[in-house]
Amino acid sequence: MSKRKLSKQQQTRIAKNQELELHDKSGSLADQSGPATQNCNGRIISHYGQQLDVESLQSDQLGRLIRCHQRSNLPPLVNGDLVVWEADGKCTGVITALGHRSSLFGRPTAVSEFKPVAANIDSVLVVIAPIPEPFMNLIDRYLVGIECLGLKPLLVLNKVDLLNSASSNSIDTILSRYEKIGYPVFRVSAYTGLGLSHLEAALTEETTILVGQSGVGKSSLINSLGPDIDAEVGPLSQGKAKGTHTTTTAKLIHLNSFDLVDSPGIREFSLGHIEPERLIEGFIEMRNLTGDCKFRDCAHQSEPDCAIQAAVTDGKIDSHRLESYFQILQTLQNN
Ligand code: GDP
Ligand code: ZN
Repeated sequence: MSKRKLSKQQQTRIAKNQELELHDKSGSLADQSGPATQNCNGRIISHYGQQLDVESLQSDQLGRLIRCHQRSNLPPLVNGDLVVWEADGKCTGVITALGHRSSLFGRPTAVSEFKPVAANIDSVLVVIAPIPEPFMNLIDRYLVGIECLGLKPLLVLNKVDLLNSASSNSIDTILSRYEKIGYPVFRVSAYTGLGLSHLEAALTEETTILVGQSGVGKSSLINSLGPDIDAEVGPLSQGKAKGTHTTTTAKLIHLNSFDLVDSPGIREFSLGHIEPERLIEGFIEMRNLTGDCKFRDCAHQSEPDCAIQAAVTDGKIDSHRLESYFQILQTLQNN
């Protein structure tokens, strides 16, 4: 298989990978005995059913791709996983151990179980656009999901070339609410390239993923951020101004200064697996206030001495965000 160009980030990862703590399914340290030359470090960059493509992180064969199977004692592996592999052919191998996962991104299945999709992700781009029209409640659902996984969300408004004064005002109103509570907001255009260098700078050395409604321009952004990528761009279906899913294979992509994991599973990211009691933890401006409510089981509605309601009255918490909280809570409770 071909040798690939390695980003600076990968070189850094190699160093990290040398210190991997290797675990098998039971959580105990994996057996690393045997000839040292047999064990190689690598990172999973794509999935083909039972087979996985591992990119070598060995200094003598950096970036080489090896088609691997995984040992049956390992949990399901995902893109971004740092692993140990052994060659069993010229370009094939077997994955024998899984490294520590600094984070695990996933999505709920139909039965509300958590399905891991990518590991060792640093940040998540929540992409919105003037078309399809953004809704605060939907943005909040993404943010809550990302916060509850312990990842760093960034908001990206794409297609700024389509803004007119009316849409610009209404979107600015929404975005300013998030800027106020500390979320980074980027205004970009995949078409004109506006704002992309700022976004790239913020993502340098990170592994990120893009989520957002179909049609907001995720594939277009990926293409603009890495001209050789060729992610398939779907047409916006007329009438509903709603796009179609076009990405079919999960993969980890090296862009100029950062890495990106993309798959249809990631794009369909939703909230199903969050316990209603934990929902408030996803609202960063509220989560530290709940301890100040008079009642431990305060529902933050009409209870006396509710710290959240008091903060809304004082203008410290945006009432729209509290509204979003109640709406999302209701859907979680009805699930
Ligand atoms: P995805 O479903 O989020 O991956 O969205 P796509 O990348 O497939 O884009 C959906 C539609 O929006 C396509 O028709 C793109 O050509 C269009 N689009 C994407 N980015 C921009 C942009 O920055 N400006 C404009 N005007 N259109 C864009
Ligand atoms: Zn309260």
